[in-house]
Amino acid sequence: EPASGSDAASLRTKAVRDGDDWVITGTKSWITHGGIADFYTVLARTGQEGARGITAFLVPGDAAGLNAAEPEKKMGMKGSPTAQLHFDGVRVADDRRVGDEGQGFAIALSALDSGRLGIAACAIGLAQAALDEAVAYATGRRQFGRPIADFQGLRFLLADMATRIEAGRALYLAAARLRDAGHPFSQQAAMAKLFCTDAAMQVTIDAVQVLGGYGYTADFPAERYMREAKVLQIVEGTNQIQRMVIARHLAGPETR
Ligand SMILES: Cc1cc2nc3c(=O)[nH]c(=O)nc-3n(C[C@H](O)[C@H](O)[C@H](O)COP(=O)(O)OP(=O)(O)OC[C@H]3O[C@@H](n4cnc5c(N)ncnc54)[C@H](O)[C@@H]3O)c2cc1C
Repeated sequence: EPASGSDAASLRTKAVRDGDDWVITGTKSWITHGGIADFYTVLARTGQEGARGITAFLVPGDAAGLNAAEPEKKMGMKGSPTAQLHFDGVRVADDRRVGDEGQGFAIALSALDSGRLGIAACAIGLAQAALDEAVAYATGRRQFGRPIADFQGLRFLLADMATRIEAGRALYLAAARLRDAGHPFSQQAAMAKLFCTDAAMQVTIDAVQVLGGYGYTADFPAERYMREAKVLQIVEGTNQIQRMVIARHLAGPETR
């Protein structure tokens, strides 16, 4: 929501019971596929302040009173529109409620754990593409009478890029294996999201560097990979929030 991002439990969109229906009013920001999705999973306040007063609903995209703003003009992720949604007395039947009243936030958090693994995997795929591009360019481009891949300054850069990618891949696969085995994996998912997206940012920046001036142009995909990496450090909980999640597993909740 406009005033509730990382602090998602402070959301203000309201759902009020009216007979067998719920009436939803409020504004949601940054909604992936906003304006084109067939359904939205909507978290709305149905009770007290904080996480326990939130309920989840599945709202059809064509519901009366639901309108999308123009898509945001973003740095990347241009294939996936992102828009604000306005709920102006949107009426949904009670059978559109997902889970019990007051369970919405817990449901959202458990979905985020799996989502974080997906983001980690995206990040490593993106970084791998950037590394492949950098290696292909470095072995073809010649300066000082030799391929630039001959220069130790670039060889070490490529080696560090590849190492970050392999470490990230191992981390998210380890977290995914815990999930598949039915074990707790929230801390490991946060670690994987944090490490893999930071790795993708560094690797894509380095790929642009390997391509030199050409890396800075849209003639090569390296600059796009760099722009796409940035959003992965922000979505599904920013990387600052991942550190908070990991620290809570280590040291318990903050004392105030
Ligand atoms: C392209 C895109 C698509 C998205 N799609 C969706 C979607 O489909 N559904 C959805 O619900 N959301 C979606 N989001 C929203 C996304 O989850 C939020 O942008 C993100 O959680 C951060 O919230 P915010 O932007 O309000 O930043 P804020 O919460 O205002 O944070 C601003 C800065 O402060 C830092 N910060 C905040 N609190 C703390 C803290 N306690 N300690 C340290 N640092 C802190 C943050 O890390 C960040 O650096 C999308 C965002 C983008 C950019």
